[in-house]
Amino acid sequence: MDGRAPLNHNEQFKADGPPLEVRDRIERVYAREGFASIDPDDLNGRFRWWGLYTQRRPGVPGGRTAQLTPAELSDEFFMLRVRLDGGALTTQQLRLLADVSRRYARGTADLTDRQNVQLHWVRIEDVPAIWAALEAVGLQTTEACGDGPRVVLGSPVAGVAAEEVIDPTPVITEIVERFIGDPEIANLPRKFKSAVTGHPDQDVVHEINDISLVGVVHPELGPGYDLWVGGGLSTNPRLAERLGAFVRAEDAADVWYGVVRIFRDYGYRRLRHRARLKFLLADWGPQRFRRVLEEEYLGFALPDGPPAPAPTGAGDHVGVHRQKDGLRYVGLSLVAGRVSADVLTALAEAAEAAGSRRVRLTPQQKLLVLDVPEDEVEGLCARLEPVGLTSTPSPFRRSTMACTGIEYCKLAIVETKRAAAEAVGDLERRLVDLPLPTLAPRPLTLHLNGCPNSCARIQTADIGLKGQLVTDDDGQQVPGFQVHLGGGLASQDREEPGLGRTVRGLKVTADGVGEYVERVVRRWAADREGDETFA
Ligand code: SF4
Repeated sequence: MDGRAPLNHNEQFKADGPPLEVRDRIERVYAREGFASIDPDDLNGRFRWWGLYTQRRPGVPGGRTAQLTPAELSDEFFMLRVRLDGGALTTQQLRLLADVSRRYARGTADLTDRQNVQLHWVRIEDVPAIWAALEAVGLQTTEACGDGPRVVLGSPVAGVAAEEVIDPTPVITEIVERFIGDPEIANLPRKFKSAVTGHPDQDVVHEINDISLVGVVHPELGPGYDLWVGGGLSTNPRLAERLGAFVRAEDAADVWYGVVRIFRDYGYRRLRHRARLKFLLADWGPQRFRRVLEEEYLGFALPDGPPAPAPTGAGDHVGVHRQKDGLRYVGLSLVAGRVSADVLTALAEAAEAAGSRRVRLTPQQKLLVLDVPEDEVEGLCARLEPVGLTSTPSPFRRSTMACTGIEYCKLAIVETKRAAAEAVGDLERRLVDLPLPTLAPRPLTLHLNGCPNSCARIQTADIGLKGQLVTDDDGQQVPGFQVHLGGGLASQDREEPGLGRTVRGLKVTADGVGEYVERVVRRWAADREGDETFA
């Protein structure tokens, strides 16, 4: 076990001053007096509790940045992360985000694979005005980053999908309203990731969150949730484990609160890279974890419960689907999460023109428009195709994800967004003769990370690419990727989730991604036997 002492620097600054209180200093001091006035522990630490990260100084090359001072590595602009719990947005909120982006963030907007929106080029002077604008329409950046409860992933089709086991909306709403911004759980050992779904596709990547509640029908107690804890990727990936407990909908927020407090009270605080909940679970095991939860935090025993059946679909909700009320929801693919203020405005206008007022983001960097009358679907799709949002994507457009990468991220070694977009275009040309959808029951997934962290979940992809410098044919160090193959979460074509394996020595240059993936896919297509999947 790692214990709690001596405190690492992050623990020290959290102990020195409650992180959430930095908002007051931002509004009273830093926004008025400018970037130079910011205390370093606030700038590089507590700001995260309000969704603010300094962004990478343009032109700083990848690799060997450890020797650089924070001022050499970052510039005076910020990334601002807006948390969208459950991925839920109204078209009014979407328009407001577009306005904020245009006004304060140079028109930037990235959709993350955790249902957040990230804006870039934000100045400290503008942050109070941005908060005021966001909060006026019910949006927030509270604990969007930092060592607290991050955005709650939720099924993007919560409350509308015809096949839903249980609607998780009330649970997500209760968690957010009762606990987000609560100082009592704002100093956790590390970030705390949550996910709640009631959809049979298990569409919230529940195996890689600190806590997940997965909709299931108990034979005697009816619909509720199966409780998972202790998942996480990054450099020590570990899949979450079931505690074998059934959670009634009315108990779900309290169970969530109990698990958070176990992490707060027992989690490891000595070594930052061993602080996530997964390390505590690994030491305790599921039985002890459940016993502590029930006896010390809940005060009652949870009933035993069954696992949810294996998912029945891809879970990305791309395409046109019927809602339980007879309307349609339309799942739209973009490339690697990149949009812009103009695309967000176009989306809001097209949704409203089709009679919708609701949009959702997905954990696969996709977008859904809800509540579309059947006879408006064609018009909606026709309006959105020209801005790069399509309900009929090619297999690789549909299933490629990328993290922020070197454009803005200080930890990045290589660029990712453009590499992903180029790979998608390249693969659409190269594999035009190969009917991928008939080869694979779910889309083949291609995920790109800019460094060994795993913001784009490379270990869960069929083909995962981890950014690093590689040696090209001329002996030069160039941006490239280490290859992971064969990862995937639970789905209809694999009984158990599994983490992709590094293919020893196999690296590709950034320019060679399309060619490499074509080779791998063609070889798999030629050699596969029967229904053999890529995994
Ligand atoms: Fe940054 Fe690395 Fe995360 Fe990509 S994976 S966003 S490069 S920390």
